[in-house]
Formats: sequence, C-alpha cells, structure tokens
Amino acid sequence: MSVINRFKILEKFQPQAAKMILNGILSERISHAYIFEGPKGTHKLATALLFAQRLLCLSPLEDHEPCGTCSNCIRIEHNTHPNVFLVKADGEQIKKDQIKNLIYEFSRLSVENGPRIYIIDEAERMNQDASNTLLKQMEEPLSDIYAVLLTTNANALLKTIVSRSQLIHFKPIARHLIKATLLEEGVPPLASNVIPEYTNNIDEAKKIAESKDLMSILESVIELYAISDKKTESMVIRFKEVSDKILTNTATMDFFLTLMILYQKDLLNLKLRHLDQIVYVSEMQELERITNKVSQKTIQSVLEKMLALKTRLRYNINYALAFDLIIAQLERGML
Ligand SMILES: [Zn+2]
Repeated sequence: MSVINRFKILEKFQPQAAKMILNGILSERISHAYIFEGPKGTHKLATALLFAQRLLCLSPLEDHEPCGTCSNCIRIEHNTHPNVFLVKADGEQIKKDQIKNLIYEFSRLSVENGPRIYIIDEAERMNQDASNTLLKQMEEPLSDIYAVLLTTNANALLKTIVSRSQLIHFKPIARHLIKATLLEEGVPPLASNVIPEYTNNIDEAKKIAESKDLMSILESVIELYAISDKKTESMVIRFKEVSDKILTNTATMDFFLTLMILYQKDLLNLKLRHLDQIVYVSEMQELERITNKVSQKTIQSVLEKMLALKTRLRYNINYALAFDLIIAQLERGML
C-alpha cells in the first residue's frame, strides 16, 4: 500500500478530494457510493483504503484521523480485514461473477462488526453484465455498506451508476510533490529532480527510481555530456558501448531520449539565464562549461533534431541508426 495513512498527508497531494471526503465524515453524511476519478498514480487506492480505515478504526484520533495502529487499521493496510473487499479485473475485464460474489458476501452476516466497504479498482473494466449487477445492488443500498469505485474515466461507467455516486476528482500530482516524495524515500537529488520531468504518476516515478537499468541510463546521459567536448574521447563510441541497455525497447529509448532532451534544454536555459528552469541542477558546473563553448544556435538545432526523433519513435524506424545519427550530430556540434 502507499504511504498515505492520514488525511493530513492526503491533503498535501489531493487537497480537494481530502476535503470532500472529510466533510462527508465530519457532517455524518457519508455517501453510500463514491467514484474516485483521476489518472493513474494519483493515490486513488490509497485514499479508498484510508477512507475504509476511518470508518472502521477502533480509536480515531481527535482530529478525526484513523489511528493507524489498531487491529482494524493494520489489517486494512495489509488487505486482510474481512469487512474490506477489493475487486480487481480478472484479466482484461471485471466480470459479472466477481460482482455477484461481492453481493453474496454482503448478503451474509458479517464476521466482524462495523461497516463494510468494497473497492472496485479500474471500475471502467466492468463489462455490461457486471455493471448491471452492480447497479441493482446500488439501487437497494444496504445500510452500512459503502462502495468506492476507482476509475481513470467516469464517462466509461454506466450513467446510472455515476448518478448514484459522489464523484470526486483526483488531479495529477504536482512535480515538486513528486520530487519531495522521492527525496524522502532516499532517492538521490539528481534522479529526484529529473524523474518528475518524465512522469507525473507517483507510482511510476518510484518504480523508475528503483530500476537499476533506468538509473544506469541516467548515468549514461551524464557521462555522454561529460565527454561531449573532449577530443580524446568519442561520444559515438561511448554510446555504442551502452546502447544495448538503451535500445532494449521503446520505453528505454524514450526514457534515454527524454533525458537527453532535458539536458539539451538545460543548456539552452542556461544560455538564456533561465536558471530556475534548470533540471540537472547538480550538473551546473558541467552545464556552464559546455555552454561557454557551444553557441545557442547549435544547442537549439540539436535540440530540434532530438524532439523530431522523439516523435518518430512511435513509428517503426531503424532505431539503432537514428540514435547513432543523433549522437554524431550532437558530438559534431559540441567539438
Ligand atoms: Zn485505528
């Protein structure tokens, strides 16, 4: 589970969503069904579990936070509380039987006291039968049963399901918050600065930071620029040495190219003295050294070629050749 276990932490990432859910709890007007809509990596599931903790916590704190330490809070965090059901797609779809099983569970006396909460992850994957079955359940809500549907697109759900639910929007998480989270988790400052420029999905950002392969691509970008103006070393040869890990698949190529583009943009921003926009802050000396030698025109022209290649990555081009060319162009410009 994600690190969120308090509304005051959630408020930092999703202030509006936190406020709406808390207001419901404080005014004792909790909706029987919520839809959390937002892109991937915006803490929707963590928030649903936090909501469940708040409803089942045995000793909520004075500020209405779940305590996080009682047996209910802990079991919810570990996904072992019998009153909290999480439904995930079985393959591509969420099928009717999965929803029927859920409803069957509710029809039985619960093993433990207290409200029961079901969470449907990627609810847009419910097929027609599953949606209709769920709708029937929602039309006759049982007391003390709460639904939280998570989705990237509420328009893909049955309108009649949406109209019976409180819709809460989750926004992409701001760059500085992703950066702060990575730093808190011990990710080095360089990677913590660069990764949020690549993704605003907090889970993906963490995965990238944990990936040895991707972090080694970041190192390669730094190395390539470090030798970019050295006549004794060749960027083209150095690139060939590391190209296996870069040309693995379109994701690794895209990551490498994006990091190169960010570096190239840094050079341009430094030329223009837009210092607050520099991403590779820890490489400032290196950036200064290169910009002192290379013209703005050259920096711009290579940047344009990189951006053009990024568009072409979607097509089935000869990647190895295209990358060799761009590195050669870069090297020619730098010397
Ligand atoms: Zn608790």
